[in-house]
Amino acid sequence: MKAVQYREIGKGPEVVEIDVPEPGPGQIRLKITAVGLCHSDWFLMDLPEEQYSYGLPLTLGHEGAGVADKLGDGVQGVQLGASYAVYGPWGCGLCHACAQGAENYCPHAAAMGIAPPGLGAPGAMAEYMIVDDARHLVALGDLDPVESVSLTDAGLTPYHAIRAAQHKLYAGSTAVVIGAGGLGHVGIQILRAISPARVIAVDLNEDKLALAAEVGAHETLISGPETAAKIRELTGGLGAEAVFDFVGAQPTLDMSREAVAIDGYIHIVGIGGGVLPTGFFSTPFGAAVRAPYWGTRNELMEVLDLARVGAVSVHTERYGIDDAVTAYGKLHEGTVRGRAVVVP
Ligand code: NAD
Ligand code: ZN
Repeated sequence: MKAVQYREIGKGPEVVEIDVPEPGPGQIRLKITAVGLCHSDWFLMDLPEEQYSYGLPLTLGHEGAGVADKLGDGVQGVQLGASYAVYGPWGCGLCHACAQGAENYCPHAAAMGIAPPGLGAPGAMAEYMIVDDARHLVALGDLDPVESVSLTDAGLTPYHAIRAAQHKLYAGSTAVVIGAGGLGHVGIQILRAISPARVIAVDLNEDKLALAAEVGAHETLISGPETAAKIRELTGGLGAEAVFDFVGAQPTLDMSREAVAIDGYIHIVGIGGGVLPTGFFSTPFGAAVRAPYWGTRNELMEVLDLARVGAVSVHTERYGIDDAVTAYGKLHEGTVRGRAVVVP
């Protein structure tokens, strides 16, 4: 089968031919119907050798959807031929966090050698993939897999961050979304769907800001040294009750700190390598800073339900698997509008 793999440090993704995997006991083989490209794929492919810990060769793709194609021994409750989304942050399944569906915060996964597909385990950017357990599947039903696959990360991750800040997002409040890319453009829609907050979108790129406005941002601002002051101006000097930074680089973290209101929330979702010093004189009184990771199983179900009622939709660019390298190139140079999705 064809697969898109990262094989050599610094060389970027390659389309290769590998064997179709066989599901072991308890595992499910999916025939992939769609797989999303995430900027985190570039985060790991840009790492120097001494910091790279995901194994090689690595089949990419941590946003996956497919049709159940073959069941390993003992698998129950999965219907052959039915369409599923893959819940990616795999945990041990047995601990307190996993019992709440928060496998993204499983403290045992790493020590047990459990890694998410595409981020250690073989991912979804292939014709087939193995899912380790039935609990990591969520039925898609009638949802179009290409349109909805990226909800497993570009939807789930902002949803998880926004839900945790929801008590700050009352009527009259302001939420700032920094980075209106794959995650950000879905985050804006989630904010509009589940809160009455005014949404200010910030990006470097005019085209991304046009998309942000299209999907529901009330205001859009070009990102720069003056942006935080503009956010303060738009909020009568108070700042934003919640800032969601989908970039996480030093300039956007500085902006987040300058733009957040007293007792507000900063959620650093982007892994751009910046650091936000928090302390009595460095952040406004009461401001909370958090760097959330991915989301919970039940939150994935909720995001898919938001799509079912038409409240959230991913803007997608489709590519065949042979064009995956081109799609990754566009993601790297910042010219994907919404999310790039490969359809094997
Ligand atoms: P993307 O490339 O689709 O979008 C990034 C957007 O940020 C682009 O629109 C770009 O123009 C904009 N941008 C870049 N620099 C900026 C700046 N200085 N100011 C304002 N906007 C700027 O990326 P994505 O796939 O949406 O991922 C966003 C980030 O989230 C990445 O760092 C990714 O690794 C990270 N991520 C984190 C988690 C998590 O669990 N915390 C999960 C998925 C992705
Ligand atoms: Zn991701």
